[in-house]
Amino acid sequence: MVRTQGIGTVALAALLVFAAPSAAQEYPSKPVTLMVPYAAGGPTDIVARSLGQVMGKALQQTIIIENTVGAGGTIAPTKLKNSTPDGYTLLLAHIGMSTAPALYRSLAFRPIEDFEHIGQVVDVPMTLIAKQTLEPRDLRELITYIRANKDKLSLANAGIGSASHLCGLLFMSAIDVDITTVPYKGTAPALNDLLGGQVDLLCDQTTQTTQYIKAGRVKAYGATSATRLDTLKELPTLAEAGLPGFAVVVWHGIYAPKGTPKAVQDKLVAALQAGIQDPAFVQRMSELGGQVVSKDKATPDSLRAQLKAEIDRWTPIIRKAGVYAE
Ligand code: ASP
Repeated sequence: MVRTQGIGTVALAALLVFAAPSAAQEYPSKPVTLMVPYAAGGPTDIVARSLGQVMGKALQQTIIIENTVGAGGTIAPTKLKNSTPDGYTLLLAHIGMSTAPALYRSLAFRPIEDFEHIGQVVDVPMTLIAKQTLEPRDLRELITYIRANKDKLSLANAGIGSASHLCGLLFMSAIDVDITTVPYKGTAPALNDLLGGQVDLLCDQTTQTTQYIKAGRVKAYGATSATRLDTLKELPTLAEAGLPGFAVVVWHGIYAPKGTPKAVQDKLVAALQAGIQDPAFVQRMSELGGQVVSKDKATPDSLRAQLKAEIDRWTPIIRKAGVYAE
């Protein structure tokens, strides 16, 4: 009897091992962390929290947003590179992934080689804004004013490698004036200081600025989109207002650590695809001036191709500007 029981137990254990689903099959069996490289409440955080809801629905798991801030947004990808490749730590990053390699003399990660690419998410334009009390009424007046007062003015950004940094860099180079820049851990605290009048200017994504522009709490001088924004029809594009060719689109991608099992990656791609087709996500992004990508862009190949094209596009422009971080 005892012996029979023993054999039974061994057989049962063997059966359990055999039948146990692999980690990839049961993924995700616990909450998934989605890192954001910038401060809570800011533009990237807003995208991540909306996306986390809809991807979480598709994965039937909670997605926790973790703001891993600092060094212009380069701390988060570095942390991702060193995370366990099991699908429980992911990253939402933006255009900064394609500018950081040219901006940093030593960067701890390689955007193409060091990650698994899940897919693109949403394209978000930017707006050049100022504290409400700044005198100039339009872009032409602003440019004249900056030329006359450059030593008194400050331009906020989210550190070297952020979209606000890139936009500010392009703006200063377009008008050929250097203004003192003030770095923050994200444009949420930067905007806070702009509202308080501690800094003068900021170029920031519409996901954060739309509501403040609509409420008249900041002055807006132009959008970085090719055409006027549906959400802010009164606002000219920077190109039409006096800076021809000025264009920045903040594209976003989801990344996983290199070596994440293919079955897990496939589940993440499927969840991303479900997320970008979710009407609530599409509507929320479009209210904030963003354009959710089409299905064919929410794929690993498309994100890789976008990264490569954008690195090739920005590297010579940044090199020419001669801006570096150590
Ligand atoms: N998008 C960033 C944020 O969420 C800042 C930036 O890229 O300028 O704060």
